[in-house]
Amino acid sequence: MTAALHLAEALIARNSTTPEDAGCQALIASRLQAIGFVCETIESGPANFRVTNLWAKRSGARPGPTLVLAGHTDVVPTGPLDQWHSDPFTPTHRDGKLYGRGAADMKSSIAAMVVAAEEFVAAQPAHAGAIALLLTSDEEGPALDGTVKVVDLLAQRGEKLDMCVVGEPTSVSALGDMVKNGRRGSLSGKLRVIGVQGHIAYPQLARNPIHQAAPALAELAAMVWDSGNAYFPPTSWQVSNIHGGTGATNVIPGELVIDFNFRFSTESTPEALKARVAAVLDKHGLQYQIDWTLGGEPFLTPVGTLTEALGAAIHDETGVTTELSTTGGTSDGRFIAKHCPQVMEFGPINASIHKIDEHVIAADVERLKNIYRRLLEKVLA
Ligand SMILES: [Zn+2]
Repeated sequence: MTAALHLAEALIARNSTTPEDAGCQALIASRLQAIGFVCETIESGPANFRVTNLWAKRSGARPGPTLVLAGHTDVVPTGPLDQWHSDPFTPTHRDGKLYGRGAADMKSSIAAMVVAAEEFVAAQPAHAGAIALLLTSDEEGPALDGTVKVVDLLAQRGEKLDMCVVGEPTSVSALGDMVKNGRRGSLSGKLRVIGVQGHIAYPQLARNPIHQAAPALAELAAMVWDSGNAYFPPTSWQVSNIHGGTGATNVIPGELVIDFNFRFSTESTPEALKARVAAVLDKHGLQYQIDWTLGGEPFLTPVGTLTEALGAAIHDETGVTTELSTTGGTSDGRFIAKHCPQVMEFGPINASIHKIDEHVIAADVERLKNIYRRLLEKVLA
């Protein structure tokens, strides 16, 4: 068994359901310390939700960029255990695949990063720049005490980050076929349309918030928010929940509650989107309130040194020409991008993530390690 696969198994065997780390980071830190990394554990969060973070850095012998390899040691809950074909925390091989919770998201990536660093440092102990690993046990949860806290601390210290690859599983059907060079932003709203409750036979004595909201909703649903750009699809607005009515068929409800979400490109700002929603609601004369939640700002790494180095590392190892994409949900890349000009995401095939019987193709773990090592060679040699 290869070193990367062996380490991936050791990490999967630790039940690190968010916010638990279950010793994953201590194991990684011991490996990195042995090759000259300075490791720092940063705990954060309330007593009942304690998050473990690791910042590990190895400075080379010559000037050069700081390349961060980032990820999370926490995993999502298993779901019903009786539906798994093998225990989620007992790494198990079947049909060339390694099964276990976190196999794809993203303990194989972390193992590949650690072994890539070991091989690179052994071959080039006097490398340029610096290699750093940034790990958290709160990526799958609220993400309040994880990567964001470490990045804030690094910014306070004036620590300069130049490039970062997050090991999220981005591949679609073959290792390396897709990488992310950005993510859309997420902005949610809970809209409460206020009417006047009354008897359905006396509408003149009531004000129906469903009737009032309907034309405004139609206008919002048809709105072109922006046209996207070379990297992002157009911003999309979607209603997820709509609740109105008392259950009785003879009552005009006094209130209508609508949950909606924007996935927005770098062509729109949260402030502008909020103002445009308000303008439509005002135009239709609605009485309302909105509670807004900004889930994440968008980030974008335009084509440049990192996209080219990662693309070349993937091609050298696999022969695959990767595709740049900004699709999918939010990730910790959004926090790192505030303090690091080039952030990308790359990891194994994501088809089974968060599912029953999560797995990774066993041979891909070694190839993933080789790609990360090739990246280190291109950036820090
Ligand atoms: Zn993940």
